[in-house]
Amino acid sequence: MSAHEQMRAMLDQLMGTARNGETDRHGVKFYDDSVCKSFLLQCCPHEILSSTRMDLGECPKIHDLALRADYELASKTKDYFYDIDATEHLEAFIADCDRRTTAAKQRLAETQEELSAEVTEKANAVHELAEQIGQKLARAEALGEEGMVEESVKLMGEIDELRKKKAVAEQEYRNSMPASSYQQQKLRVCEVCSAYLGIHDNDRRLADHFGGKLHLGFITIREKLAELKKTVEKRREERGASERERSGGRRHYVGGRELDRRARRHRESARDRDRNKETDRDRDRERKDRDRDRERERERRRSRSRSRSKREESRERSRGRDRDRERERESRRSRSHRSSSKERRRE
Ligand SMILES: [Zn+2]
Ligand SMILES: [Zn+2]
Repeated sequence: MSAHEQMRAMLDQLMGTARNGETDRHGVKFYDDSVCKSFLLQCCPHEILSSTRMDLGECPKIHDLALRADYELASKTKDYFYDIDATEHLEAFIADCDRRTTAAKQRLAETQEELSAEVTEKANAVHELAEQIGQKLARAEALGEEGMVEESVKLMGEIDELRKKKAVAEQEYRNSMPASSYQQQKLRVCEVCSAYLGIHDNDRRLADHFGGKLHLGFITIREKLAELKKTVEKRREERGASERERSGGRRHYVGGRELDRRARRHRESARDRDRNKETDRDRDRERKDRDRDRERERERRRSRSRSRSKREESRERSRGRDRDRERERESRRSRSHRSSSKERRRE
């Protein structure tokens, strides 16, 4: 890392994505699926084992120090339950490693000359002591580098004791088999990191292994997983409870079929609602129509009766006129009759 990159990483760690007013450099938030939750909790194996013999390559999910800073800030006020995600991730990873260890042991059992139970026990005693020496030596060197000289010297004293015991164990192992067999490198598999260790490996080599980034990285991951596993069941219950609370009683994520069912139900109820609305509208219209009809009928009747009376009136009137005319004609007739009879009388 260049000095500039180092500075940038440091600022990211301190200030998160909000630095320089950037809201999201990748266009992602720490809670997105594409972000590695194990990285946020500082336990992604891709990061821990990078540049070791077992480098896993780049993590398929995003690692970003700024997002980690965002998460660390946000997690102070809200529980994201990422420890559960990390537990599942590490569990899968460690299960995979343990399978590899088992397979490696199987391979050794098939390829290495088989030892009797007695000799195997003696070989294991040597391995055991070699491992302790390697671990303590690595630790003593680390303490020395940190300037903790006293602790380092104390460990070196313990290592001397172990070396004496190992020399005795090696002698017993050597005496239990022919010299030619003893010369062969006997391998075993490291239970922590699944690397091969030789029974004739010297202290330096052992210290390099047990103090190396690969083996220590695996210790970090295994210890982290052991710690997470202690609480994961309780945490799952808590997460379940908080999800139930948020979703108002819904317990699980909804699958595709359930979503279909819900969508159908929603469509149907919407249709029912529309249908009801329509029926209401229809009923309303019908009632209005009926009222209007009734009103019209009443109006018609009223106007009919009005027109009838008018007609009757006019009929009455014309009848009257007829009567008048009749009377006039009658009087004219009688007058002419009277005059003619008068004339006749005059003649
Ligand atoms: Zn990762
Ligand atoms: Zn190891």
